[in-house]
Amino acid sequence: MHNEDLGFNSLAVHAGKGDDAMLSAVSPIYQTSTFAFDDADHGSRCFSGEDKGYIYTRIGNPTIAELEEAVAKLEHGYGGVALSSGMAAVNTVYLTYLGQGKHLVAHNALYGPSRGIVESLYTRFGVTASFVDATDPANVEAAIRPETSLIYLETPANPTIGITDIAAVAAIAHKYGIPVCVDNTFCSPYLQNPLDLGADIVLHSMTKFINGHADIVAGMIVAKTKEHYNRLRPVMVNMGFNMDPHQAWLTRRGLKTLGIRIDRAQENAMKVAQFLEAHPKVSWVLYPGLSSHPQYELGRQQMRGPGAMISFELAGGLEAGKKMMNHVKLSLLAVSLGGIETLIQHPASMTHSKLSKEARLSGGITDGLIRLSVGIEDVDDIIADLEQALGYA
Ligand SMILES: *Cc1c(COP(=O)(O)O)cnc(C)c1O
Repeated sequence: MHNEDLGFNSLAVHAGKGDDAMLSAVSPIYQTSTFAFDDADHGSRCFSGEDKGYIYTRIGNPTIAELEEAVAKLEHGYGGVALSSGMAAVNTVYLTYLGQGKHLVAHNALYGPSRGIVESLYTRFGVTASFVDATDPANVEAAIRPETSLIYLETPANPTIGITDIAAVAAIAHKYGIPVCVDNTFCSPYLQNPLDLGADIVLHSMTKFINGHADIVAGMIVAKTKEHYNRLRPVMVNMGFNMDPHQAWLTRRGLKTLGIRIDRAQENAMKVAQFLEAHPKVSWVLYPGLSSHPQYELGRQQMRGPGAMISFELAGGLEAGKKMMNHVKLSLLAVSLGGIETLIQHPASMTHSKLSKEARLSGGITDGLIRLSVGIEDVDDIIADLEQALGYA
């Protein structure tokens, strides 16, 4: 059967199987750094690209290639580039499109290091950047300069759950010939395909939903065209941002259950969000599945489901947040997201505690903000745990 005829869950299980000697193995792993050539001619054909044979694992490896092909299929792109982490993916995109004299336009509420690395490192190499509220596409257009060479979005964004209209931003960017990259970590390809909406590049921290089991750190870039793929891939190879075959093999296993994990987590998240919205100690809830979300309609058009990430505000502020964190029992008090376990965190006392209150507020981090990544446990148990912990808040 042609892969093209298969649905999402069938592709998640089967896509990317290579045509090689271990084809009969259902779940092979090539834990090797190098590949032996048949003879000198074979070696030179591989180096010239005439023969597709493998050379060295930093350049390519069948286990990693299976994962790259599978995620590229699910994202409807030309090709995938697997990386050691989500941040290796972000930096590969930056290194490919930014440089001396170039300018970046990015959404203002990004995953912390995706913004921090630009401000602390890329500026040393002559890159400038404008961080704007891209949930209003007009702000993106206003920030574009003649030297703008990349537009970088994250939607829904971390931790404000703001939704950016990918098609609207892509239409603006393409008027000026600027490529658009979308960090699709919060949705995964199961809920959103940015390339279909006009983006040129999509990236993932596969540490989150795609692997989903809190046992590896990994990243992926999918390029829409051969041209973008051919620019991105050598940067990964030559910077040494490659994955290890074992990491790729575990991620490929996690990917197989992506659809059923998200179905379950999202069903739980909807019930948890409704519970929180009705709770007297909660002043507001941001969840794309609630009609109270400011971009509820846009989310419904752009995403196939609201996902499993919820932000909410405790009326009691900082102290209430700490008390709630100290009393959760089932939910794990941990950063990261998108796994089978429910994870909870309080940015003001944890991830953003070193920042001043003003700096936190400028990034949308209020004192009572709690971020919840809803897992696949029994929803009654998740709600009972939150309810007893809220009793202390
Ligand atoms: C975690 C995360 C990253 C970074 O990924 P790592 O795998 O931790 O390097 C980038 N973007 C988003 C949205 C994330 O949640």
